[in-house]
Amino acid sequence: MNKADFPFFHNREIIYLDNAATTQKPQKMLDAMNDYYTKFCSNTHRGSHDLGNKATQEYEDARRSVADFIGANPEEIIFTRGTTEAINLVASSYVKNNFDTVILSELEHHSNILPWQLNDLHIEVLALENDLSIDLKSYEALLKKNPKSFISITHISNAFGIVNPVKELIKLAHQYECKILIDGAQALAHCSIDVKDLEADFYAVSAHKAYGPTGIGALYGKYELLVEMNPYQGGGSMIDDVSFEYSTFLDPPYRFEAGTQAIAEAIGFKAALEYMQELKDLHSHDTSLLSYAKQRLQEIDDIILYTQNTDVSGNISFNIKDIHHDDIGILLSKQDIMLRTGHHCAMPIMKKLGIEGTIRLSFAIYNTKEDIDKCIEALHKAIRMLR
Ligand code: PMP
Repeated sequence: MNKADFPFFHNREIIYLDNAATTQKPQKMLDAMNDYYTKFCSNTHRGSHDLGNKATQEYEDARRSVADFIGANPEEIIFTRGTTEAINLVASSYVKNNFDTVILSELEHHSNILPWQLNDLHIEVLALENDLSIDLKSYEALLKKNPKSFISITHISNAFGIVNPVKELIKLAHQYECKILIDGAQALAHCSIDVKDLEADFYAVSAHKAYGPTGIGALYGKYELLVEMNPYQGGGSMIDDVSFEYSTFLDPPYRFEAGTQAIAEAIGFKAALEYMQELKDLHSHDTSLLSYAKQRLQEIDDIILYTQNTDVSGNISFNIKDIHHDDIGILLSKQDIMLRTGHHCAMPIMKKLGIEGTIRLSFAIYNTKEDIDKCIEALHKAIRMLR
């Protein structure tokens, strides 16, 4: 019973189905952060006292844990504030100087659209099939027209749960001499990731989507690419030598980590990854909850389910005919059921579907079939009130 691991659920009846936005935090993770603040709070990579050394060691251990979790080497892991900052870093330190065109799919989160626009890159958009999947033939045709471009595509959609065939996308990208970033914000908690097996050039994640703290995430980059890249920000810790005339920088990953880092958060990130590693049913739990939710949702009259036959993971999106999604969200919240309604930071795909937004259920390890049953009951009640 995983709810017991999460203080958020202690002594309260609340059903939390907004995990694609952020997950609740296990006690183990909170304890790890608290230990840093109460037992060895100190800055990293500076000075020589014992506490500083301990903080540095824990921070670098966290880097190793992230690397192990996604199949990378530690020096290929840059801590960032999250997926958003990771994508901005790649856009400004690498893509802006080396590419004219960025290929995105229609499904992307705003975090995977705005950084390219803000860096004045030309965007080519890959149109999706009616079931919101990527057709590899259309993808290849776009690459043929735009070889040597940069591609940035989500692994799992936060708005519709679609799981993209990232291995095939990466393979084709390289055939057309493109480089590719995978937005793994939703994938970290919902599928196994092995960046070496995928051969991804860059892979971005956020800790808070996977039982970790807010304010930290990671960018994986192939080392041979990272060494070519300019610093993203300037400040303490990332330099080799500084004078008023010129400065030189450390090797990656330190070159990209300017200023005091999110030390407690890195330590919490490691604890969250360990928590997930201890769970035997992390991914199978997901699959069974999703198929149960789909089956129960289909019992509702007038349901519009956007992913009938597509491979989805982590979340499922729908609408109820002639009822505004926000009205449902408000009435469910009154019944202590927290789900997300709106455009889910994916306005372009909503526009393509001709809708303003959806109702989204998103799952985590502590959700149960009873949560789904209660949600469906509450949905029926809300629909009766709104009809
Ligand atoms: N991409 C996807 C697919 C996401 O779901 C999110 C978070 N909703 C992001 C990027 C941005 O992540 P963060 O806000 O943690 O930087």
